[in-house]
Amino acid sequence: MLPMTQHVTKPKVVVIGAGFAGLNAAKALAHAPVDITVVDRKNHHTFQPLLYQVALAVLSPAEIASPVRTVLRHAANTEVLLGEVKGFDLQKRLVLVDDPYTGPPDRAVSARAGVLSLPYDYLIVAAGATHAYFGHPEWEQFAPGLKTLEDATEIRRRILMAFETAERELIAKRTPPPLNFVVVGAGPTGVELAGAISDIAGRHLTKEFRSIDPRQSRIILLEGGPRVLPTYPADLSASAERQLKEMGVEVRTNAMVTNIEQGVVSVGKEKIPASVILWGAGVSASPLGRMLGVPLDKAGRVIVQPDLTVPAHPEVFVTGDLASATRHNGQPVPGVAPAAIQMGKFAARQINRAVEGKPREKFEYLDKGSLATIGRSRAVADFGKLHISGYFAWLAWLFIHLLFLVGFRNRLFVLSEWAWAYLTYNHSARLITDPAEKDHVETPKAKAG
Ligand SMILES: Cc1cc2nc3c(=O)[nH]c(=O)nc-3n(C[C@H](O)[C@H](O)[C@H](O)COP(=O)(O)OP(=O)(O)OC[C@H]3O[C@@H](n4cnc5c(N)ncnc54)[C@H](O)[C@@H]3O)c2cc1C
Repeated sequence: MLPMTQHVTKPKVVVIGAGFAGLNAAKALAHAPVDITVVDRKNHHTFQPLLYQVALAVLSPAEIASPVRTVLRHAANTEVLLGEVKGFDLQKRLVLVDDPYTGPPDRAVSARAGVLSLPYDYLIVAAGATHAYFGHPEWEQFAPGLKTLEDATEIRRRILMAFETAERELIAKRTPPPLNFVVVGAGPTGVELAGAISDIAGRHLTKEFRSIDPRQSRIILLEGGPRVLPTYPADLSASAERQLKEMGVEVRTNAMVTNIEQGVVSVGKEKIPASVILWGAGVSASPLGRMLGVPLDKAGRVIVQPDLTVPAHPEVFVTGDLASATRHNGQPVPGVAPAAIQMGKFAARQINRAVEGKPREKFEYLDKGSLATIGRSRAVADFGKLHISGYFAWLAWLFIHLLFLVGFRNRLFVLSEWAWAYLTYNHSARLITDPAEKDHVETPKAKAG
């Protein structure tokens, strides 16, 4: 335990969420004269841009995640608390953390029944976003989204089980079952998933099944809007669509999904049978935004002030995907990892400046470009005036993602795994590990209408 004087004199900073924003905020405050508590409901930081590599069995979960305690082990002023934040008392400056146990009595923490109340002088809320099913939460069980390691391993299990089920059926019934993979939403996640399924079906599995031919799989990418990668420039959208089609993905734009049930996706009156349905269509902000009781945008994100704080509470910062921030040109700050990193560091700097008695600054997002990978050696990259497609965009994507992976050990592992998978077409993480009772692989039950 720290000596009492340090508790009394040092401002307390509570950081909610050890994602890109929260972790970078905590790291940036590691040498500041403050005491920091980082609270996350997971014990690990997940490198979400590589989740689809876990979902498609190229990488193992441990290669894209690091324990938060390990990442912050050298920050002597920082403690890590595993727990789910359930609410706030902004007037009393308390964060309410779900606690099934009794709170430790020897800390500046009050324990009520099942709740830890963490006091703070400064609060950084960086709880990110989650899937949104446009008012149809019941679709989630049939069409999982990709946000956490658990999602990725569940998707991996469904995809691998689809091939296993098809092989079994063909042996049992002698008729080749349809292998349809339907991906809903052609933003970066949907495009990455569709391309990666095409890779695994078209190359990686071909030599391993004796009855089915994985190359006969149909991969259907449904997009409600007029083009794939809608936030990218039009020429890169067109290039991404072309690259997807070259890989055998059926791209269908202006195809608004109207219903999802077990093994069937409906687009208006058309029913598309599906062995596996994946959701990449929408995100909404963490419910913690609503609990702050401040103005939100349509996606539930907190509309922040120019210094990323909330109205009437200059001590409360909201950062990353949970924040609705505006650039000087009026454009919204995008929900991407570099923006979250920059916001986290900015909030930390403002706390440091406040401790030093300096005035607040305004946040300005520095856009370094965006990249979306489409499959083996295929990607698009938007670096402002410079637009790149294909192999060189993919190399840029690979380099940048490795650069930002948390932890040196991870980087080396990931590079070697990728190189191995690239050269040998061998996905060493192709394991079905979860309990069979969670099996949601469907035999398509409806014919395309
Ligand atoms: C599949 C996928 C692919 C992506 N690809 C890219 C890409 O290629 N490039 C790019 O720039 N961006 C990409 N993104 C977006 C990027 O990952 C996000 O913008 C970024 O993670 C946002 O960071 P954050 O810190 O705001 O939130 P997150 O990284 O989501 O972290 C939020 C943290 O808060 C914790 N948390 C949430 N609620 C609570 C609670 N109540 N109590 C305690 N802890 C809580 C969570 O466990 C999590 O650790 C991708 C996202 C996904 C899902």
